[in-house]
Amino acid sequence: MSLRSRQNSNASSPGPFFWHHSGVDAVIRKLGSSENGLASMQAEARLQQYGRNRISSPERRGFLARFLGQFQDVLIYVLLGAAIMTAVLRHWIDMGVILGVVIINAVIGLIQEGKAERALDAIRRILSQQALVVRDSRLIQIPAEELVPGDVVSLQSGDKVPADLRLLHSKELRIDESILTGESVPVNKSIDVIEADASLGDRRNMAYSGTLVIYGQGRGMVVATGDKTEIGRISGILSEVQTLTTPLLRQMAIFSRWLTLTILIIASLTFLFGIFVRGYTATDMFLAAVGLAVAAIPEGLPAIMTITLAIGVQRMARRNAIIRRLPAVETLGSVTVICTDKTGTLTCNEMTARSLVTSEGIFEVSGVGYDPHGAFMHEDRLVEPVDYPTLREVARAALLCNDASLSMQENQWRVHGDPTEGALLVLALKAGLDPLRQQEERPRSDVIPFESIHRFMATLHHDHAGHGFVYVKGAPERVMAMCAFQRLGGEDMPLDEMYWREFMEMMAWRGQRLLAIACKNTEGSFRSLKFSDVETGLTLLGIVGLMDPPRDEAIQAVHECHKAGIRIKMITGDHGTTALAIAQMMGIGDGTTRLAGHEIDAMDPALLRKQARTVDVFSRASPEQKLKLVIALQEAGAVTAMTGDGVNDAPALKRADVGIAMGLKGTEAAKEAAEIVLADDNFASIAHAVEEGRTVYDNLKKAILFILPTSGGEALVIIAAILLGRILPITPLQILWVNMVTAITLALTLAFEAPESDVMSRPPRNPREPLLTGFMLWRIIFVSLILVVGTFGLFLWERGHGATADTSRTIAVNTLVFFEIFYLFNARYMHITSFSWRGITGNPYALWASGILIVIQLVFTYWPPLQFLFDTAPLSVIEWGRILVVSLSVYVLVELEKLCFRGIQSRHRKMRVTDQTDHPF
Ligand code: ATP
Repeated sequence: MSLRSRQNSNASSPGPFFWHHSGVDAVIRKLGSSENGLASMQAEARLQQYGRNRISSPERRGFLARFLGQFQDVLIYVLLGAAIMTAVLRHWIDMGVILGVVIINAVIGLIQEGKAERALDAIRRILSQQALVVRDSRLIQIPAEELVPGDVVSLQSGDKVPADLRLLHSKELRIDESILTGESVPVNKSIDVIEADASLGDRRNMAYSGTLVIYGQGRGMVVATGDKTEIGRISGILSEVQTLTTPLLRQMAIFSRWLTLTILIIASLTFLFGIFVRGYTATDMFLAAVGLAVAAIPEGLPAIMTITLAIGVQRMARRNAIIRRLPAVETLGSVTVICTDKTGTLTCNEMTARSLVTSEGIFEVSGVGYDPHGAFMHEDRLVEPVDYPTLREVARAALLCNDASLSMQENQWRVHGDPTEGALLVLALKAGLDPLRQQEERPRSDVIPFESIHRFMATLHHDHAGHGFVYVKGAPERVMAMCAFQRLGGEDMPLDEMYWREFMEMMAWRGQRLLAIACKNTEGSFRSLKFSDVETGLTLLGIVGLMDPPRDEAIQAVHECHKAGIRIKMITGDHGTTALAIAQMMGIGDGTTRLAGHEIDAMDPALLRKQARTVDVFSRASPEQKLKLVIALQEAGAVTAMTGDGVNDAPALKRADVGIAMGLKGTEAAKEAAEIVLADDNFASIAHAVEEGRTVYDNLKKAILFILPTSGGEALVIIAAILLGRILPITPLQILWVNMVTAITLALTLAFEAPESDVMSRPPRNPREPLLTGFMLWRIIFVSLILVVGTFGLFLWERGHGATADTSRTIAVNTLVFFEIFYLFNARYMHITSFSWRGITGNPYALWASGILIVIQLVFTYWPPLQFLFDTAPLSVIEWGRILVVSLSVYVLVELEKLCFRGIQSRHRKMRVTDQTDHPF
């Protein structure tokens, strides 16, 4: 026995006690608990004693390490190199300004990185796990962090085991322990005592924290929590370190490195050209080359991209889409197909039984929501349920084969448990049944719980006169296949399938979700239920039609997605006709075409690819068929988002480009597999996430589109002067100043840009599109040239009109800074015009940054110490006027350029629409 397992076995006291090697009774005694768990008071005291059930997060890097981390970038190394060289040349001011740039960059990076990390931490907390625990003899849900040794925890398929447990009960429990043992085949669990020296993977009577329940049910007693659990010991695995990086950021980092190299080469060439062709001194040329390199290096870019991404993640969280893996933020922007569940995502998941069919005919049920008051209508008149024994029998089965409960909270009836079952409970109450009395008369002895894969639930009951009863409810096709009879007037008659199918089709067309209810009599001594017991010989009692209305906001969101060029596909476990009816209400599909799960299985891959593209409604689809569909869609070229909630949805969620799990009704297994978790399960939140994803990408592009031409413009001013052999319009020191005051401040404001008004009316981004498109390169060159021509031109004009070198340079520096301010407002929108009230005032950060920058420039121009340091001269109002007129030109020219591009684009789009009527997605 290893030391580790020895320690493990002693969560409560030292000594050679092995949880897996001890019987259930011994474990319970050792933990001072009982099969009915702990009392709240006891649990409270233990929580104080053992601490919260969470794994301590790895030590955060200290302040100094984080600060120094900001300097680890090639761009910054070059700047530091330049600072050292200027120090060697004893140009202390140059050195000071270069270091100023580096430090401002590091401080902003540090602050924003801290914010970004806190945002991700907060998101991790939202995703905190819950556990079903027995406290005070009642099964309640609590945050998993509050579990203590001795608690009794209930497990069901899809759950993540919340602590280390010794199993007390196991019903076909299978657990995926790959996270702990690396073994990918799920382990069958039991409660039998195991050899003391069994390895972790062989301790079948234990369930370890962090592992996933794949199938079945179980109960276990908590033996270790937090860092004492097996996973806590090999800590780190679970902490899911989210690094602030994505493929795009990595691509950008590589780009920055190449850019730095190019800049260094250009600076060196300029240096040589200046000395040998233009005859400048080596020192002057060196300072000019340093100024050029520092100006051209987009040192703020990496920080700004990280910040933009973090802000996007925070915004999505505010709109109920919790990002678990950062690259999803980028992928969202290029999603072309969203495959969504129906129940609870497109619909409200508030079920109400509206109709009921028995052999006696169809009954309509009245009432609102979960309010258990309502009446039954049969053949257009009100009827009393007591007069219809089969109806009462359906209601009794619906009540007993049911785990939901109902309560009145804040004047509203609320369901605890599955809404489908809640609706059946309400139906039984409307039929006049008393749940407590029924449960006492026919107590339950076993259950086969509902699982989407077999689409039914069965319970075993007995009365107190030696009779046994099996009740089954589930999808009608599934249940009818188990039935041989139907009930009429207390008698069992042969099943007349046609009779039921006609009614089912009618109810499904109303958009109702169908559930068949059946029963079977057994021996009273019978106490456990197997699949084989329910597979044949049942008697069909009736079929219930449940209405689950569409969510209004989801209808709106479907419409928005269509406008955004995203195709919505509904993949549901529900009946085909019901699915079509709901899809029609939602505006999904053509109202007639649908594909059933078994048809998917029968198709060859080529046909499936075609059908996956054209069909929008898929019914009775299993998780495996969902996976096939995602693969087919991806092979057909779609970027696919897929929703899921069950444990078996995990493969499809993993395979999808963006897997989206339901936060409320989703299992932990689905959440683990997904990139995004929806806090409210609502389809509208997916549409919002797509909108935010597109916005993040836009904002990243905007930051690039701002930083590159402004850095380029600054550098080109120096290059142009050297090439033309004129005196520099801006001294190297002044260019360092401009770079210091504008580099990060202005561009950072673009990270806060709200979505553009047309963000959801353009087609999805092509994922293969490079970050720097032809259009962006054009814009970068166009703006750089405006900046150079304007700055240089005005400088030469001033010189020509008798201004001193200092005044002309002060004008040139201010022109450059004002160019950047005006261009910032252009850059707020990529294609649409910024010449509007919103365009000018819409981003308060941009206004603040511009205001502060203007003040800084006034100080730079008029404050004697800075005049002395930077050779600036005070300017007259007329001179300021000329600066404003020239710098405003960038605003006007870029707006004109946008106008031209919009014209070209709309003509292009019209042409595309006419020759491409069959857009694949
Ligand atoms: P979606 O994938 O859109 O969420 P769904 O929720 O309708 O679809 P499932 O939950 O897999 O899909 O349900 C499939 C069918 O199983 C339902 O149409 C219903 O007939 C039946 N069913 C659903 N819930 C229960 C339940 N608690 N007990 C018995 N049968 C159920």
